[in-house]
This record gives sequence, structure tokens and C-alpha cells, in this order.
Amino acid sequence: MVQNSNITPETEDQMIDQAYQNLLNIYLSSNHRKKVEIIDKAFKFAREAHQGIRRRSGEPYIMHPIAVATIVIQEIGLGSTSISAALLHDVVEDTDYTVEDIEAQFGKKIARIVDGLTKISGGIFGDKASVQAENFRKLLLTMGEDIRVVLIKMADRLHNMRTLESMPTNKQYKIAGETLYIYAPLAHRLGLYTIKTELEDLSFKYNHPAEYQRIKEQISASEESRNELFARFSAPIRERLDNMGLKYEFNTRVKSCYSIWNKMQTKRIPFEEVYDLYAARIVFDCENESMAKRLCWNIYNEVTEVYIKHPDRVRDWLTTPKVNQYQALHVTVMGPDGNWVEVQIRSRKMDEIAERGFAAHWKYKIGEGEEEEELTQWLSTITDILKEPEPNAVDFLDTIKLNLFASEIVVFTPKGETMSLPKGASILDLAFTLHTDLGTHCIAGKVNHKLRPLSYKMASGDQVEILTSNSQTPKADWEKFVVTAKGKTRLRAALRHQRRLVIEEGERLFMDFLDKHNIQFSNEVLSLIIGRQHASGKEELFFMIGNEEIILNEEMFKGKEQGGRFYWWRNPFKSKEDPKSTTSKAADAIDTKAIYCLKTSDGVSNYQIASCCHPIPGDDTVGFVTDSGKVVVHKMDCPTLARLKASYGSRLVQTQWEDHSDRFLASIHIEGIDQKGILQSIVNIISTNMSINMKKMNVTSDQGVFNCDLDVLISDTTVVTNLCREIKKIKGINSASRRN
Ligand code: MN
Repeated sequence: MVQNSNITPETEDQMIDQAYQNLLNIYLSSNHRKKVEIIDKAFKFAREAHQGIRRRSGEPYIMHPIAVATIVIQEIGLGSTSISAALLHDVVEDTDYTVEDIEAQFGKKIARIVDGLTKISGGIFGDKASVQAENFRKLLLTMGEDIRVVLIKMADRLHNMRTLESMPTNKQYKIAGETLYIYAPLAHRLGLYTIKTELEDLSFKYNHPAEYQRIKEQISASEESRNELFARFSAPIRERLDNMGLKYEFNTRVKSCYSIWNKMQTKRIPFEEVYDLYAARIVFDCENESMAKRLCWNIYNEVTEVYIKHPDRVRDWLTTPKVNQYQALHVTVMGPDGNWVEVQIRSRKMDEIAERGFAAHWKYKIGEGEEEEELTQWLSTITDILKEPEPNAVDFLDTIKLNLFASEIVVFTPKGETMSLPKGASILDLAFTLHTDLGTHCIAGKVNHKLRPLSYKMASGDQVEILTSNSQTPKADWEKFVVTAKGKTRLRAALRHQRRLVIEEGERLFMDFLDKHNIQFSNEVLSLIIGRQHASGKEELFFMIGNEEIILNEEMFKGKEQGGRFYWWRNPFKSKEDPKSTTSKAADAIDTKAIYCLKTSDGVSNYQIASCCHPIPGDDTVGFVTDSGKVVVHKMDCPTLARLKASYGSRLVQTQWEDHSDRFLASIHIEGIDQKGILQSIVNIISTNMSINMKKMNVTSDQGVFNCDLDVLISDTTVVTNLCREIKKIKGINSASRRN
């Protein structure tokens, strides 16, 4: 950035000192306990850390944290912990200092807030903001008392919006859109009305510059006549309030550009017809807040004696305050020019709350010592509000289907993406959730930059990096700390695959050994060795050999060498006998060559399962030879096959299922009435009770109706039948059936 040559380092330092002194003055005039020391330390630390760095606008970077900290005390009303965290909020992200450095200097509390701010700086509020909204909400809920993170983030965004001018246009547009979509509604929810209004107006200004400018001009053009009108309107009321002996302010406030524009849009009316362009507001002082409500009604009486009130537009927020504790009395009356005017009646304290939300409570706190307690109370109220969104308030907070999952944690990948996992999930769970290969090769994890074992249970807000090694293989004892259904399924599949590789290796060693020692293979020989090694069958025998638990030697084969015919069970292609060649239903049209679907795909992959009918083992099937020589296996009753049969009858080949393997995709559709735990029950049956490999699951819940499309990899039709039968037993499930 080009610097103004008039600015010397000295004047710059002066500017910084001045801004900081201003911050301190505001803090010292607040009702907080005066912990200047920690704030001072944070300021010096941040100033040193950002030394020499400039913002896009050209001003020293430290001016930004000072501004954010000023918003934090002045407009949100937080105390020394938050002010210090605000001063330090960009240190970890933008300089070489780490969270550990912050903790060593400023303690756990401040470090945790700075850490939270660093974490949500990327992913959540970044490019994928809309997609991340739901995760963001969950994060808010799991962050507990450190909702201060969100409040400081709000101040950060407000300052960035105020200084958006220096950003390139395309960024302005994006940031403004995001602000309107996420921050403004969130500010509203947190009771920060003034901030909400400013964020909306600033977003509007950058999203629709021309319209913003026009409305601004129209407001100022109508100012004089509006003032005249208000003077005429207010005079008789003032007279009566003076007679009551009240100390009060009676003002008008013009609605914000954004809300005027919004009204013009939704009601399709021109500027001139937005009659409630301004609200008249009476704010009165009262010594004793318990008298405030009665005074509101007294003032109401005076107002409605002067002007006729609109019968349907009295809003009593005194008896039942809004959920965010807004209290006031609103009445709409017919003004002297025949237009309706809304009059809001509030005490000074009510006004503070309306403008600054819960932050206003600080101002009225007497005495010291309860700072933490008060804060905790306030924060828990905010958390409650977030948990129970009122209708129409914040759309993105409302569109949730969280009830499907009981308890969850949200963790971050190093890129700032968020992942939701069940509580108690380990690093290995995360690895398997991200990718099977990541799981099988996982050796450890880095949680918040510290090395942790695979079994380490993550907590919400953790940043987790998965460390892998090519030499790692899945281990059976990992099952002890994999808790997610997905992780378990993937680990088991990996273990099965791993076992198959060992078995194959053992078999190869076995056959090589026979070959080398000139022993003829036969089932008798195999049974003999299985018996002698106390193996349960050939698979276990080969596994033991492959795993080097058995070292083969000639002694083992003694006395049982036999001559004569033999055949190898594994290789039907090389077999001289032609198995069941002409017994198929479609025998006439079908070649006698057999296609076997074997256990391992390796080397026998010249067939393909038809995507039109998805046959699985147990189905009657026929193969169709394509132009490229590949055999596509269809169900016998597949309509596509029928068409092919008519034109290319000679290309059909007989197929026969031979071995079981988890390789066939079946789609199952499940319907029922949504209820808590329903998804969990289904997953349990699939992965725990039946150990079926789940490939895809698509769940929707619409007005209580639960729909689930499930793709599973299974070995044959009986598994699907059993699975559907088991799922139908779950409470609430109406139907479960295989889909064609
Ligand atoms: Mn910042």
C-alpha cells in the first residue's frame, strides 16, 4: 500500500496511542472492575506482534484490533478478558506466535478465546459460509461459555464492514453478502440490535450502491418537512409530560436505509409510501426501576388522550418481554397530518437493553465480584436462545434436523473445514470418516498441534490433522476405539481385505512348496495338513502360513503322498470338467462357457454387474458379451436383457455364482415415522448385528415422515431379505424393501 508521505512514524505512533487511550477511557468509565494491567499487557503484546504490518487501507495493523476491542467494550459491553482477547485476536493467525505463547502470557481463558477466534476465521465464515451455517450453529452450542468468541467475532466483522471501502469490489460483494446472511441475523439473535442494523445497512450499501445512495438522499431531502411534522406532533405530548414532572427525551429516529428498502421491496411501494419511516421514542429516567412499567402506562394514557390510537397496534412488551428481554410499550396513533406514527415508550434501562441487548445489564450492575457469575448467566441465556430459535427470526438457525443425532462434536480439519462426529469419537474415527485409506494407514494424529495416539478422544473445537504412513496396516485391536458406525464398517472391511491378502499369500506359499518338493496337490493332502496343524479349514491354514505362524517343511507331508487325478478347487477356468453346462433356463440361446464370479476381483474382472438390474448372488443371471469382449451380468428377467436377447441372442453366455463376497450393491428403501434414535437403530442392525458393508445412506425427514435410501454391499439375496426383515422390526418403520 502506498503511504501518505505526510505521515511520519512519530505521528503514526501518536495515532495508535490516542486510539488506545480512547479505548481505556471508555473501559474506565464503564461499570467493570478496573483490570487495566491485563489490557495494557495485551495491547503491548499485540502492538509488538503486528509491528510493521499494514492493513489494506495503509494504516498500521494494530489499529484494527484496537478498533475491535473498542467495539467489544463500547457497543457490546464485555469486560477485560474479552477486551484483551480482542486486542490479541489476529496474533495467532497473522504472526508467528502460537496459542501456547498466548496461554503462557495471558492464561488459559484468554488463550482459549483467541484460539476459538483463530479457528473460525477460515472455514466457517469463509467460502462455504452457507453450507457451514448448520455446523456453525452446532459449534455455538458446543462452545458453551466461550460464546464470547462469537461476540468478539461480531465486533471484528463490524469493523471490517466499516472499513470495507479499501477492499476490491468483488471481495466487497462477497463479504457484504455473507454479513447479511450470517452476521446480521446472528446479531439480532444475540440482542445486538444497533450492530445488526449497522451491519444490514453496510451490507446494503455494498450490495446495492445505487439504491442505497438514492434512499439516503431521499431521507435527507425529506428531513426538514419531517422535523416540522414531528415538532407539531410532539408539542402537545411534551406539554403533558412536563406537567407530569418527568425527565425524558422525546426523539425520532429514521428507520435504516435497509429496512426502508426492504419494506419498499416486500410491499412494492415507493419511498413516499413508507409511512412508518420514523419511530417516535420517549425515553424517560426513573430512579426506581420497579416504577418503570407503571410510568410507561401513565405516559401511554397521556399520548392516547392527545391522539387517536390504532386499535390493533398496541404492543405490550412490558408484561411479557421478548425472549431476548426486550421491554417497551408501543402504540400507534394518528398524527396531525393524518398519518400513523408509532410511539415507543421505554425507561432508560429498557432503552439500553433494546439498543445493546444483554450487554446493557453491565451498566446497571452494582458492586463488584460477581462479574464471572453475571457473565455466565448472560451467556447461558444466549445459549438458550440459540437452542430454541423463535419462528421467523433466523432462518438458518431453524432449518435443522438435529434430532436424529443425540450428541455430537464438531472438529476442524487443518484446512478449516468442519466435521461432525458422535461424542467419544477417536482420531481413528475421523480418519476412517474422511477416507478408508486414511483410516487404514493412520498412525497418529495432531490435535491442536500436539501429537496424540489413534485412540485419542477428540473434543468439540479441536483442530485435528491425521498422520499416515504407507507401511501401516489395519489392526484387529483398533475395533476397541473405533466408535462410529462408518468407522467400524470400514475398519472391518479393511481387516477382511487384509486377511484375504494374507490367505492368498499363504496359499501361494503352500502351492509353491508342493511344487518345489514335487508333492501332488489333492483334497486329501490339504485335509491332512489342516488336521495336523489344528486349523479350522483351508482358509485358516493358509492364513497361518501367510502370517508365518506355520513354516512348511517336508515332515508335515510324510506318509500321505498319493498319485492319481487331482484338481485344484480354486481354478474353474482350467478345469477339464464342464460344470453344469446345459441346465440353464435359457439353455438354447446360451453358450456353454461359464462365467464365475469369484471371491477376489483380482484377475477375474472381465465381468461387470449390469447397472440396470443390479443382480446379486442368488439371482438367476445371464451374461451378455459386449463389443469390447466384456461380460455384463444381467438378471434373467431384466427387460434390458430381453431386448438384447432378441437382437443378439448369440452373445449370451451362461453365468453361475460361485463364491460369496461382499461385492454386490443392493438398494433398499425404508419408510416410517420419524422418531429419536431411528437412524441409530438402523445403523446398528447394518453394521453391528449383521456386519454389512454400507456404501451410501440418504436420509430425509419431512414433517415426521422418515425416508431412507440405503446402498449396501452384500453377498447374496438372503442377506437382503434378512436385513429388511430385521429393519422392519424397528419401532416406527413401516416398510423396508429392495429397490430395483
Ligand atoms: Mn480481525
